[in-house]
Amino acid sequence: MRNSSYTHWACFDCRKSFAKEESATPRKCPECTKPMIDMGAYFEPPRKLNVKRWAVMKLLADNGYKFNTKDSRIYIQNRILQAKNPRVADVIERIELEKQRNLDSN
Ligand SMILES: [Zn+2]
Repeated sequence: MRNSSYTHWACFDCRKSFAKEESATPRKCPECTKPMIDMGAYFEPPRKLNVKRWAVMKLLADNGYKFNTKDSRIYIQNRILQAKNPRVADVIERIELEKQRNLDSN
């Protein structure tokens, strides 16, 4: 039985996250009505004013990284973010490295 039907839906335009039930179709942002992105139950939304952190989270989302489990959160922190407050350019570089590594191992 699943016990984590709630997840964090993020709106990158409003830089807000809403805890709502999972859904096959994207939920709409209550503020701007654009479709939100399911970032996973273990997503920790940055503060609204932390624009850089939101940009990093958007990068993760665009590349398919989600915080669905505790393990995925640890993986993203250790392999992709690494620093507490990583630079966007560093995160882009590490995402590319991870892609290469995954290609090499296939
Ligand atoms: Zn919005």
